[in-house]
Amino acid sequence: DKNVTENFITHIIDEDLANKKHNHVVTRFPPEPNGYLHIGHAKSICLNFGVAADYQGTCHLRFDDTNPEKESREYAESIQRDIQWLGFDWKTNQFHASDYFDQLYAYAEELIEKGLAYVDDQTPEEMRENRGDFNRPGVNSPFRDRSPEENLALFRAMKAGEFADGARVLRAKIDMQSGNINMRDPVIYRIRRLHHINTGDKWCIYPMYDFTHCISDAIEGITHSLCTLEFEDHRPLYDWFLDHIDIDCHPQQIEFSRLNVSFTITSKRRLSKLVEEGIVDGWDDPRMSTISGLRRRGYPPEAIRDFVKQVGVSKKESVISMTVLEDAIRHHLNQSAPRVMGVLRPLKVVIENYPEGQVEMLNGANHPQNESFGSRQIPFSREIYVEQSDYKENANRKFFRLTEGREVRLRHAYYITCREAIKDEQGNVVELRCTYDPESRGGTADGRKVKGTIHWISAEHAEPIEVRLYDRLFNHPKPASLENFTDAINSESLEILPNAMLEPGIADQDSEVVYQFERNAYFKRDKTHETDKPVFNQVVSMRDSWSK
Ligand code: ATP
Ligand code: MG
Ligand code: MG
Repeated sequence: DKNVTENFITHIIDEDLANKKHNHVVTRFPPEPNGYLHIGHAKSICLNFGVAADYQGTCHLRFDDTNPEKESREYAESIQRDIQWLGFDWKTNQFHASDYFDQLYAYAEELIEKGLAYVDDQTPEEMRENRGDFNRPGVNSPFRDRSPEENLALFRAMKAGEFADGARVLRAKIDMQSGNINMRDPVIYRIRRLHHINTGDKWCIYPMYDFTHCISDAIEGITHSLCTLEFEDHRPLYDWFLDHIDIDCHPQQIEFSRLNVSFTITSKRRLSKLVEEGIVDGWDDPRMSTISGLRRRGYPPEAIRDFVKQVGVSKKESVISMTVLEDAIRHHLNQSAPRVMGVLRPLKVVIENYPEGQVEMLNGANHPQNESFGSRQIPFSREIYVEQSDYKENANRKFFRLTEGREVRLRHAYYITCREAIKDEQGNVVELRCTYDPESRGGTADGRKVKGTIHWISAEHAEPIEVRLYDRLFNHPKPASLENFTDAINSESLEILPNAMLEPGIADQDSEVVYQFERNAYFKRDKTHETDKPVFNQVVSMRDSWSK
């Protein structure tokens, strides 16, 4: 089974292999370590690593680290963790754009010597003005015709730290009249006195993305450089640099459309704003569309991979419905999640005819459709908890749960009949008095049809837990389209249920297992140690409640 279903990129690769243009496919995933990866990056990861695996090729992890002011080790480490968690491995092929700073510098000198790059002393404002725009051709810089000798001397002085930050730049000499603004003498190097996570204080000039990326690809022998559509207009520049320096390899840049998911944000810059402003509880808040947020929430990596595969690869921009992602998670968890009983909003039930002090163990299957999950022993006793919503005072005939005089089945246990509801002074139901039928052990009794089955937990054995229910973080399908995306924050995206109960033996500290709390939703234990009770995060509801 292939990682990546056939698409226009695999067609190009098939052709390149058939024509013997290449005999080994080399791709790369090139994140900038300036934030945590998000669901959009999962597409690029699955595509680059997936294609490489499908063709017995190689995929590099390359940190695109040319912007020291925004980059950190924490981010780089989170990126490694996320890729591995998603199920991919770069093996020994980990690189940094900064590994090539010496080579990049030498290629810049080569362009200068060929008369194809110059040092520009214009102010940033002048440069912006003279660059023109879509309707207005650019104007040549007064410094454009400096001799290679002068440019070389100035560029070396830039490198040696003789000028202030931003005082001069090195630009490629291409065409200020080009219809493609990227080709209007783009900046190749700028002066920035910044400490770099890998090269420390060695450099005070840093190369720009467009210059760095194509040369890094070529140095690494990348065959197919897969990137998102916004780089389509940069491709002429990618090719121009490689055509004008002395380098053997010329990778093919191929663009595909970004993955956008409705009701989420897929931009590190905006996600980091949510973290900085304290709108969420860190990059791995379970409501975040970061890979680490999805992991903490309990999304299985296989399900994320399936989702990305289902979305496919094309050049068409689109927004995938959040429901498609959640359905992929549900589909996976329905098969993989053991069933347990958890009561989110407990209501005590006393079974009056059950002997006081008696405990019996009942057998419960861990998965209704898959025997290989085995079964467990569940304690039953005179006092149990049921869900508050499973009792209704004035219920009609269609309510197959607890109301005075009505009989229901307790999952894996007995039939009970509701006799009386006890209320507090405010009139709230605080306890139910019921009786049980000792003949109905295991949930069947002769001759009676009992429609409703509800979950329960023996009170004395119940483990108190805190449950966190999540709704979408945004209440607008395209938050990024708003002037201020934080206006669309859903103030009810987190609901805490502090008094939930779980059957014993499940709330294991280190558990990575996602459980289905039967009839409720899927849950996974949170990593937090800040509460006195174990916390369980809702992974996803049983059914989609949005597209109803
Ligand atoms: P952001 O805007 O979130 O910072 P980026 O594109 O600047 O994203 P990079 O770290 O440069 O982030 O991304 C690494 C790779 O992931 C790039 O090749 C980029 O094209 C790809 N990528 C980023 N976002 C998406 C997305 N939404 N869908 C598919 N690929 C993406
Ligand atoms: Mg980028
Ligand atoms: Mg970015």
